[in-house]
Amino acid sequence: MSETTWKATACILCSENCGLEVRTEGRRITAVRGDDAHHSEGYLCQKAARLDHYQSHAERLDTPLRRRPDGGFERIGWDQALREIAARLRAIRAEHGGHAIAYYGGGGQGNHLGGVYGSALRAHLGTPYVYSALAQEKTGDFWVNGELFGKQTCHVTPDVEHADFVIFLGTNPWQSHGFPRARKVLKAIAADPARTMVVIDPRVTETAKLADVHLRPRPGTDAFLLAAMLGVIAREGAEDRAFLDAHTTGAAEVLAVLADVDVAAYAARAGVPLADVERVARGLAAAERAVVRADLGIQQSYHSTLNSYLEKLAFLLTGHFGRRGTHNLHTFLLPLIGHSPSPEEDPTVPLTRVTGMRPIAKLYPPNVAPLEIDTDHPERVRAMIVDSANPLVSGADTRAYERAFARLELAVTIDVAPSETAARSHYVLPASSQFEKGEATFFNLGFPENRFHFRRPIFAPLPGTLPEPEIYRRLLVALGALPERFPLLEAAARAHRKAPRARLFPLALAAALKARPSWAPLAPVVLYATLGRALPPGTASAAVLWGAAQAYAQRHADAVRRAGVADTGAGLGEALFEAILEGEHGIALSEHEERDAFSLVRTPDRRVRLAIPSLLDELRALAHEPDVRDPAYPLSLMAGERRTYNANTIYRDPAWRRSDPHGAARVHPADAARLGLAEGDRVAVESPGGAVEAVVTLDDGILEGVVSLPHGYGMDHAGARTGPRINELTQSAHCDPLTKTPYHKTVPIRLGPTRSPLER
Ligand code: SF4
Repeated sequence: MSETTWKATACILCSENCGLEVRTEGRRITAVRGDDAHHSEGYLCQKAARLDHYQSHAERLDTPLRRRPDGGFERIGWDQALREIAARLRAIRAEHGGHAIAYYGGGGQGNHLGGVYGSALRAHLGTPYVYSALAQEKTGDFWVNGELFGKQTCHVTPDVEHADFVIFLGTNPWQSHGFPRARKVLKAIAADPARTMVVIDPRVTETAKLADVHLRPRPGTDAFLLAAMLGVIAREGAEDRAFLDAHTTGAAEVLAVLADVDVAAYAARAGVPLADVERVARGLAAAERAVVRADLGIQQSYHSTLNSYLEKLAFLLTGHFGRRGTHNLHTFLLPLIGHSPSPEEDPTVPLTRVTGMRPIAKLYPPNVAPLEIDTDHPERVRAMIVDSANPLVSGADTRAYERAFARLELAVTIDVAPSETAARSHYVLPASSQFEKGEATFFNLGFPENRFHFRRPIFAPLPGTLPEPEIYRRLLVALGALPERFPLLEAAARAHRKAPRARLFPLALAAALKARPSWAPLAPVVLYATLGRALPPGTASAAVLWGAAQAYAQRHADAVRRAGVADTGAGLGEALFEAILEGEHGIALSEHEERDAFSLVRTPDRRVRLAIPSLLDELRALAHEPDVRDPAYPLSLMAGERRTYNANTIYRDPAWRRSDPHGAARVHPADAARLGLAEGDRVAVESPGGAVEAVVTLDDGILEGVVSLPHGYGMDHAGARTGPRINELTQSAHCDPLTKTPYHKTVPIRLGPTRSPLER
């Protein structure tokens, strides 16, 4: 039966989470359109139209699975699965301690609430180890933010839409988006002769075709190019002296290092004409409002953390911070990340037991996870809980992950489908899809206006599945950490929903947590099991947002009121929570004023600390860095390119793609001619870490000597694999020394004949 009404939800494929309206038929999504009432203003890209391939594919899980000794799986009931998992977790913790248990994931582009509830399980088990894909992409950026702005939670948001000079650095927003209504904004900048778009990318991307200036550095030379640009600014005295004096410390030290940069030599090293470097540097310095929007192209490349530092120096030294059309910090309703103090600030921060890795932003890098497991170290990781993640495909070095999972005494995967990670787990717990439960992301990154979208379910849970909050609640009950029911708190929650001003529930909750201190770290699940039962059907998972709304309203009361949420005192938090619950198209959380920008800086004096000694040392050392290439692997692979029909590993059914069915390897025609390759040929892509097979497509927009492959391929579906699994080429050790971010954009490879036939 076709539903004729449109239901509001959101796209779950990238961090923009554009608002959607969908029509449904049974359990299927039959039509998708942009939601004009959402802050994405009806914007969509082509990927969202295919969401039914996520919701309804043939391999949705509908019962817990337990691995048999022969490697196959058997269906078991929820109670049995959770009882057995709880018993094994208890035994591992008792024998080896909570540090022997690690957690991976906790939410993807569309679901972050599961991770919040998962924090209660981690707290009970005593494991600090959260591995996340964010920590193989962005922790260099977060670490630099912490040094500059005082806390790693000080996240910078570039206001691309209102800038008149925009540099896209290692990003192709036509495909990767990364800011609201990306394609409309790109077209508007391109069409306006008063605005300038600069793209820094080795490939002639869709965005580069719209640019006024396109710099094409050799892969891995971004630090040289950025240092050269900053060297021009330092030498010419083009920095914004008034801004630096008013809002920063350490500028003189930084400028002195930059003034020593051999600009011409560094530009040559990057393969970029000196005149282009000077033109971009001068344009950035002279612009009234400029942004530098950077992404994985520099963050997963050589000198990853230094690149993030230089990118931020580019806009800070030129004063493009704290105003509309520049860069700002922003608030979070619930922070996506935390702050991990330095050893000087807190020597007790837990390091990983085998590799001694420190967390950044409270996350541990997936690059070290296999090393923490696949070892005879007595304090190794022995159990892993994977929630909404697929490290066997998305983590660097697939083979290392395969070996590590074979060593685990307990692996539990929570997912909607039998992922490659699920296939190597002992238990697989079927989650309800992102359209079958109340969900939200914490990608509320706006300033001055910040928005949030809690989306209600558009389907009941697929029979046999459970939403993650309920999985965690049941696990904590099975572990004996929480009771099945909370009669007094549940009654207080019901009363609170009718008369929030009486504050009955907050008082009862505070009393309960005081009487049972062991519940305090499990508060998200206590809220879910009490307040959640009193919320409207399908919205129990929003319970944790009640606490977040109280805290947010207290911290940013004026900004919340400016956004239209009216009340006073504790009532403001209650009103904000109600607005979140009722706002089916998303709501404005807060409306800050421009002058608030510096109040979000977390250094003691609210000044940006420009000098980061370790990175200034790395910057100086560039002058002596040899240009080494391995003759055995003469080509450079950009692994993980974003394209028209790839997404994260959430789309498992390859039928969702309308083009590029094989995830072809882009090869420059000159390289292809030299190697005797033609369009459509099959080729072996070989790195020091492994080999995959790919189909060749010729692309004269890619630099000679460079090959690209997309992410989001190489998954098994219905017994077949489609496209290359790129992490069979990558290696854990090929990474940034500080953050362990893998160098995906500079994988040394060669192309050779295939060893086996490939489907075409
Ligand atoms: S930009 Fe495209 S993929 Fe990203 S959320 Fe919007 S519709 Fe989805």
